[in-house]
Amino acid sequence: MGLKHVLVLPYPAQGHVNPLMHLSQKLVQHGCKVTFVNTEFNHKRVVNAMNGKVSLDGSKVELVSVPDGLGPEEDRNDHAGLILSMERTMPSDLERLIRDINSMDGGSNGITSIICDTYMAWGLEVAQKLGIKGAIIIPSSAAILALEDNIPKLIEDGIMDSDGLPIKKGKFQLTPNMPNVNIADMPWSCFEDDFSKKTIYHYLAKTIKWSHLSDWWLSNTTQELEPGALSLCPKILPIGPIKESPEFRSLGQFWREDHSCLTWLDQQPPCSVIYVAFGSSTMFDTNQFKELALGLELTNRPFLWVVRDEDSNNSNGNTNHHKYPDEFQCTKGKIVKWAPQQMVLKHPAIACFISHCGWNSTMDGVSNGVPFLCWPYFADQVIDKTYICEVWKVGLGFDEDERGIISRWEIKKKVVELLGDEDIKGRSKKMKDMVMNNIAKDGNSTHNFNKFMKWLSE
Ligand code: UDP
Repeated sequence: MGLKHVLVLPYPAQGHVNPLMHLSQKLVQHGCKVTFVNTEFNHKRVVNAMNGKVSLDGSKVELVSVPDGLGPEEDRNDHAGLILSMERTMPSDLERLIRDINSMDGGSNGITSIICDTYMAWGLEVAQKLGIKGAIIIPSSAAILALEDNIPKLIEDGIMDSDGLPIKKGKFQLTPNMPNVNIADMPWSCFEDDFSKKTIYHYLAKTIKWSHLSDWWLSNTTQELEPGALSLCPKILPIGPIKESPEFRSLGQFWREDHSCLTWLDQQPPCSVIYVAFGSSTMFDTNQFKELALGLELTNRPFLWVVRDEDSNNSNGNTNHHKYPDEFQCTKGKIVKWAPQQMVLKHPAIACFISHCGWNSTMDGVSNGVPFLCWPYFADQVIDKTYICEVWKVGLGFDEDERGIISRWEIKKKVVELLGDEDIKGRSKKMKDMVMNNIAKDGNSTHNFNKFMKWLSE
């Protein structure tokens, strides 16, 4: 049997491209060739961050692209506009791409299967049309997918209307083992206007319909982390934690990683550094940014802070420049524009992680035994915070003051409280061992992944 050739299709955002790239690396280690399809816009960013390369020496991951259908000036931060455009134009472009690849070399090296991001699950229709296998992978928690798979029940129970808009107020639990969800925090509710909310809600409902075209729902989670969601939605196959493979590093990053922070970490005492990073799209207002800077200073501890200087998905050239307060000396801190996060969190100098709780960051922290200070911004991050603080109990949240701001004193207070809490530190270490056992030779996620590989190779 020839080499399996898998096409991998991420949603065009950093928190989707990274885990799908790490999965691609795993597929390559298991003997597959991977064609990784970014949108043209993101392809340029990735290639730029890799100094112009479209594959690394010896790698069997090839980067290709299709247009997202938006013009060069249109705002890719407008997710409603982006998904409408992608749904309109990308399926036929993807089909053409696959037909072209499959007609090369007499078809000997053709695409044999597609793995789509759940949010690009229309790719399964393309797979079906071309007679090739398809699977999906969810880059968020299994709880989110279980929630979306239960949309009809949420409508039936009068929690929301058929446009996804909340009817009731307060929290609900789909089953007793699932995290509490505030109705106002449904993943599509975080968008500002009703048009975006409805468009994204209806799109998500459609992605679930498409997802049911496949029996393979992969997830970057583990059995112990999400027993409730996995029993509610048994189709989800936990294969996490999906780790980056050092030999392929950077192949999915939108920004160049600054490795100088690793040398800096080498010079810090063990378990001393606060790592501060908010993923790829969180934006701060000026006052909050100032309080964060002064709060980090006030802790009197070394910190490593990621401050992006460019708005991630914005094609308008808008920048995310912040002015540091005059009093901010940064004598004990190091600031970088983008860090090699998985390597940073593995470093013995790291004491805790001030995080926006994106699912990938959550998995990065949990799988390295690093306790959290949670600062969620929107969408699924609020549910991830519930997991961290209320279910796994490996972190604390921040409280806002009367101005709606997390003050410098609150930041200092919570750092002191977290680092003095031996129970949280102990649970974080235990959780790391438990989670990492899943990808040991005889671990549950390894077993699941091997099952998937067997199906892929049949
Ligand atoms: N990340 C990174 N360097 C940074 C910050 C983040 O490599 O300085 C990576 C992180 O490991 C994760 C992704 O960027 O793979 C962020 O995804 P997440 O789901 O945490 O947040 P999002 O960007 O989707 O809000």
